[in-house]
Amino acid sequence: MLTTLKRIVQEVNQVIDFDDALSLLALRLKQATNADCCSIYLANYEQQNFHLKATEGLSKSAIGKVTIGFSEGLIGLIGQREEPINIDDARAHPRFKHYPEVKEEKYHAFMGTPIIHQRKVLGVITLQQIERRHFSEEEEAFLVTLAAQIALEIVHAQARGALDLSDATQRNKWQSTLHGVPGSEGIAIGTGYVANRISTLANQALKQVNNPAEERALYRDAVAMTRLEVQDMSDRMQSTLPEDVHAIFDMYLHLLDANSLGHEVEQKIDAGWSAISGLKMVVEQYVQTFQNMNDSYMRERAVDVEDLGNKILGQMLQSQESEQRLPERTILIAEEISASMLAEYPPQSLIGIVSMRGSQNSHAAIMARAMGLPSVMGLTDVPVSMLSDQHLILDGYSGEIIVSPEANILAEYQQLANEELELFEHLQGLSDLPCVSKDACEVKLLINAGLSVELENTHSSDDDGVGLYRTEVPFMMRERFPSEKEQIELYRSMLMVDTSKKITMRTLDVGGDKPLPYLPINEENPFLGWRGIRLTLDHPEIFLVQVRAMLKASLGLSNLKIMLPMITSVNEVDEALRLIRQAFFEVSEESHLSGEVLSMPQIGVMLEVPAVLYQIPQLASRVDFFSIGSNDLTQYLLAVDRNNPRVSDLYDSYHPAVLRALKFIIDQANQLNKPVTLCGEMAGEPGGALLLLGMGYRNLSMNRHNLLKVKWVIRSIGTSEAEALLEEVLNMSTPQEVREALNLKLETLGLGGLVRAGK
Ligand code: PEP
Ligand code: MG
Repeated sequence: MLTTLKRIVQEVNQVIDFDDALSLLALRLKQATNADCCSIYLANYEQQNFHLKATEGLSKSAIGKVTIGFSEGLIGLIGQREEPINIDDARAHPRFKHYPEVKEEKYHAFMGTPIIHQRKVLGVITLQQIERRHFSEEEEAFLVTLAAQIALEIVHAQARGALDLSDATQRNKWQSTLHGVPGSEGIAIGTGYVANRISTLANQALKQVNNPAEERALYRDAVAMTRLEVQDMSDRMQSTLPEDVHAIFDMYLHLLDANSLGHEVEQKIDAGWSAISGLKMVVEQYVQTFQNMNDSYMRERAVDVEDLGNKILGQMLQSQESEQRLPERTILIAEEISASMLAEYPPQSLIGIVSMRGSQNSHAAIMARAMGLPSVMGLTDVPVSMLSDQHLILDGYSGEIIVSPEANILAEYQQLANEELELFEHLQGLSDLPCVSKDACEVKLLINAGLSVELENTHSSDDDGVGLYRTEVPFMMRERFPSEKEQIELYRSMLMVDTSKKITMRTLDVGGDKPLPYLPINEENPFLGWRGIRLTLDHPEIFLVQVRAMLKASLGLSNLKIMLPMITSVNEVDEALRLIRQAFFEVSEESHLSGEVLSMPQIGVMLEVPAVLYQIPQLASRVDFFSIGSNDLTQYLLAVDRNNPRVSDLYDSYHPAVLRALKFIIDQANQLNKPVTLCGEMAGEPGGALLLLGMGYRNLSMNRHNLLKVKWVIRSIGTSEAEALLEEVLNMSTPQEVREALNLKLETLGLGGLVRAGK
């Protein structure tokens, strides 16, 4: 069953036209199940009905014409119930409705299953049989499995269809909206630019173009370069590979021959396809032919053809990329945004970021926020290449991307973007005012640094120091661990920005979604694995070098604080403190000789693993301060991967359980007289700031871009009003209710523009 399923899905995927793909699907399904009829209906939510899109067995003339209301007939019933129906005689069912156009009089047995993607019914697939019978359990399981597999393909195909990229002449004609996860707030209107395209044919969108001569030249040059590459590889491997394996290179060279692949690709180019599209179509056809062969040796050659195709593609993209320049008002698009990728682009050249992977509190989103760029994450519905060169509106509040916006929509968003600018200017006016609530309660605003060096290394009167310096980014940008000397320079420059302010440096917190290129960690569950303090305690040499570097950087100064990430148990703290003392002892010995003064920094732990909530007194007796990592605390308390867009709806720091945990921590810390800061993203959110003020938090650490927003919020409310709001939301049952209450409060305070587009 699995192979049949795979074969069908693969074959259908090869078909460019969406309607043709559905027709093929209906045909293959009918053949695979020996049913007399197979039909596919797709939902139209605007019209609230299902459209017959493909059939093998009903009247073909009904395709595209027959519509069935969401609450009508058996198709409607399957959609409403969101489960399969399997009946011996459809006509005897009370919900059966006769549609004369489909001509189904002869059929009796009926089985249908919904096609569902992310809880949404996209359509229904049905099988029908002339005889009266019950479809077997295996047949039902097969259909359900296929429907689940085909759902994502339908989403992709619909997005492709909506963007209509198969026809270049039609591009930019229709507006379409794609949905992702809101990454960072703001509106960006610009042009999509795909970074570091992953050069596989599978990721390429089909395109028609009107310049066959240029495309042919592009293809031929790429083949010539690939030939050299293969020849070179072949020469180098001559002595190391056995002869039969080495023969693969001969096959590559043969395939590169003008009479082989080349001929067919050029035929496609002549038919109006781009060189990349032609190559994609021909290679995918070959791959499929090989995969369908009975001989296992030949089947395996499919991989070689694919590999060769990707090599040629790599050459074509290279030559295209070398000619490509960043468009004006670039919206950077990538499979996954990384710190090193962002470093490649001058910050002033970007106006927005779209990442296909990741979710609202992935480090990529946090990085975008730190740079003050609107972003959308987890845009899984289309391949990245589809957004290249497209005119886009990025709405970082809703997580929507509008492709080829119509003039009226564009004007509306332009207006919102202008209002955002006005708001920004208003915020600048708060710069020199103190951060106090209406009843004069002071809240210290610190900044989270490390992600956007340019911004954070500058002196400013707005902040009260650095509440979190993420040290891992400089580690991620290199090809090896930075040396002690390199680290000293880096940390010194941070401490010297303003020596009167405290700088809280966090020890290396890699793992999870922050891998080091030179220390690959392959784990099933990286967020539950070798991360933060767990990794550095296993490598005391890395930890000691880092702490020594921090201490040496602080010689003669007294503004360093050190913080430990991902603490789960008290013994991790004991072990880390032992190493810090050792480093302190070593550095003070050395500094005595040079006459410089070394002060012992305050040491704190991050509260981000739920277990530590129940060990606060034990931790408090060991360290000087606490800092709450609400990003991870939310992830671990709710058991929701912060990096996974599939569960992004479940990740919410306003979940009542998270809020209660935060209240519990501040109450405990206050009782124990232990200073506590909150440095997760919610500290920089207007709604979060309201709640945290109500809970009693007086130290909030956030990215610099949010600082004035939070100051505005705090200055607009009194503590007792914030406490009353907190009491109200703590009695709520769901994060949605909390969010609504917060947004309403912000609107009534005149601060609505901070959480939605516009003033
Ligand atoms: C947190 O977890 O809230 C935090 C501040 O650290 P990071 O986002 O770097 O994991
Ligand atoms: Mg964390």
